[in-house]
Amino acid sequence: MKINGDYHTHTVYSHGKGTIEDNVKAGIKKGLKAIAICDHGPGHLTYGVKKEKLYEMRKEIDFLNDKYKDSHIKILLGVEANLISYDGSIDIDDEIVEILDILLLGYHFGALPKTFKDFYKLYFYNFVSKYNKIWEEKVKKMNTIAFIRAMDKYPIDIITHPNAKIRVDIKELSKAAAKVNTALEINAHHGELSSENLKLALEEEVKFYINSDAHDPIDVGEVEKGIKIAKKANVPIDRIVNIEE
Ligand SMILES: [Zn+2]
Ligand SMILES: [Zn+2]
Repeated sequence: MKINGDYHTHTVYSHGKGTIEDNVKAGIKKGLKAIAICDHGPGHLTYGVKKEKLYEMRKEIDFLNDKYKDSHIKILLGVEANLISYDGSIDIDDEIVEILDILLLGYHFGALPKTFKDFYKLYFYNFVSKYNKIWEEKVKKMNTIAFIRAMDKYPIDIITHPNAKIRVDIKELSKAAAKVNTALEINAHHGELSSENLKLALEEEVKFYINSDAHDPIDVGEVEKGIKIAKKANVPIDRIVNIEE
């Protein structure tokens, strides 16, 4: 199994170490055919990229695609948007969706919830559910519904690290994702999806990406941990979008 595109990398625009060009150069060195720059959505209080900056990133990526056209790497502008409400809202508006090549969605602590009620549910409920079995199931269901609503509202390409920060029902999420052609990520940085959860996801038609979630150019294209997880779960190669023999 070999990665041919890394669709989840961070840069200095949020809290990564390298510039967009640093990540691109690292991707070229690794022989990637595609690299997506997906910094955190504007709703993240500390790492979020401001809306205006996303327009700057668009220009920079258009320039770099031209500069590196002989290297045969496609550079994509993406965002790792934040789930901010149980109604499925995310921190990206339609104007931004228009300028993106790829849209990722994840849940992150530190993203400003849409309403106080969402704050209560996303933080308090999820926190308490760690220590209470009955709540765990209830909250898991709520989280899953929120992701499903987001996938219905927005053209989401990939759900990042499902189950890494808040619990979801993988089988239900996979079923809904397959219907709207959203893929689930096997994140080499967080190690989620786990191989146990991958086996559940495989029962549905959903596709997968194995991404690095690199926060440093040296980690671009480094997905060994993700490949190991996929192998352990016997994921057929044709179910993984960015992996080849
Ligand atoms: Zn993330
Ligand atoms: Zn990330």
